[in-house]
Amino acid sequence: MESGATAQMPGTGVLSAPAPESHLMNTYRPPPQVFVRGRGCYLYDADGGRYLDFISGIGVNALGYAHPRLLRVMRQQAGRAVHVSNLYRHPFQEPLAAKLAAWTGLDRVFFCNSGSEAVEGALKLARARAHQRGEGKYRILALENSFHGRTFGALSITATQAYREPFEPLVPGVDFVRFDDVADIEAKFGDDVCAVVLESIQGEGGIHALSEAFWNRARELATRHGAALVADEIQAGMGRTGRFFAFQRFDARPDIVTIAKPLAGGLPLGAFAASEEVASALTPGMHGSTFGGGPLTCATALEFIATVEEENLLENVRRRGAQIQEGLRALATRAGFVREVRGEGLMLGMELEIEGGPFVDRARERGLLINCTHNQVLRFLPPFILEEKHVAEFLKKMKRVLVWKPKRGAGRQSASPTGPAATPGEERLK
Ligand code: PMP
Repeated sequence: MESGATAQMPGTGVLSAPAPESHLMNTYRPPPQVFVRGRGCYLYDADGGRYLDFISGIGVNALGYAHPRLLRVMRQQAGRAVHVSNLYRHPFQEPLAAKLAAWTGLDRVFFCNSGSEAVEGALKLARARAHQRGEGKYRILALENSFHGRTFGALSITATQAYREPFEPLVPGVDFVRFDDVADIEAKFGDDVCAVVLESIQGEGGIHALSEAFWNRARELATRHGAALVADEIQAGMGRTGRFFAFQRFDARPDIVTIAKPLAGGLPLGAFAASEEVASALTPGMHGSTFGGGPLTCATALEFIATVEEENLLENVRRRGAQIQEGLRALATRAGFVREVRGEGLMLGMELEIEGGPFVDRARERGLLINCTHNQVLRFLPPFILEEKHVAEFLKKMKRVLVWKPKRGAGRQSASPTGPAATPGEERLK
C-alpha cells in the first residue's frame, strides 16, 4: 500500500516555505513545495504531502519513482563502476546501441547526456555528411512552433522568439517551415539543405501531431536533395505514445533519431541513432563526450528497455492513454472552456480557451502534478506504469480542478524548466 495513504494535504507546513534569498541563477520559477522522495506514480514533499505525478519530471520518469528493477541495477552498477569514459569499453554500450538500433530501425548510435546534446550531435552529423557531398550544403529546416533544446545549435532550430532573441546571433542557415504545411516545405527545400528536423508530435509546442502527408513529403524531399531527415523523439519517443517512437505511426523512416528523457530511468543519458550511410560521415575524433554513455547510465537504460518489453508497457501506455482521453473529453464538455483534448498514448494535451497556469497551481494544491505548455495547453506525461486506479484518481482530481474558472489574469503562470509556453518567458524576459 502506498505509504502516503495517511499523508497530509499537500503544501501545508513550514518546511516548504521558499528560501528568502537564493544563490541559484534566475532561470526557473518553481512552486514552494520541496520534493524529497517518490514511489511509483507519487511524489512526496517535505511536509509529507502526496502528489500523483502526471508530468513525470517532464517525461523522464517513465517507470515512476524507485522502480525495483531500475534500483537493483543502479545499486549494483554504482558499486562496480559509475564512469570509465569513452577512452575504454565497458559491457553495456554495445548491447544498448544494438537495442536502440532495433527500436529505431537504424544502424549506429552515439551516446551523450541530454536531449539538447543529442540534437547538437544530429545537426553536426548532418553537416559532416553534407560537407562530404560538396560545398554549399549547409541549410537546416525546422518547424514553426518547434522545441529542440537550449544549447546554441538546438536553440537555433527552436522557433520560439523569446527563447532565441536574448542569445542572438545563433547558428546561421536555419529556416522555419510552417507547421504541417506541405507547400511551404516544398518552397523552402533545395540542394543546399543538409537536414530537416521534425518532432512528429510537438511536445513543448502544445502536443501537435504532424500529418502523414507532410511527413512523407519531407521524406521525399530529403531523399531527392540528399538531406537527412531527423526525427526529434526526445519527448515522444521510447514508448511514450505506445510505440517505440512516435514516427513509427508512419511507414517512411528518418535517417537520424534523437533520444533522451526516459532512456536511463531518470539518470541523464541521451543518444542519436543514424543509418549506416549517414553515420559513416563520422570518424574517430570528430565528435565525443566525457560522460556520454557511461556504465551506470547504459546498464540502467538496458534495464529500462527490458522492463518496457517484458512487462508489456507499450500496451499499458495505449490503454491508459485511451482511458484518460475519454475521461478528459467528458470533463471538457462539462467545463465549457476546453478547446480540444489531443495526443497519443501518454503524451496528452488539453487546450483551453483561457490561460492554463492557474489550473496547474490548483491541481498541485489538490495533490496532482501537471504542467502547462504554450500558455493554454495543459500537458500530461504520466509514467508508463500507470494503473486504472491512478487514472480514476487523476480524473477525480481534474474534475475538481476544472469546475473552477479563474478570473482573467489570476494565479501565477506555470513554467516548465525546459520550455514553458508560447508567449513564453515573457514575464521572465521583462
Ligand atoms: N527536443 C525535444 C522534443 C524536447 O521536448 C526537449 C526537452 N523538453 C529537448 C529536445 C531538449 O532536451 P533537454 O532538456 O534534455 O536538453
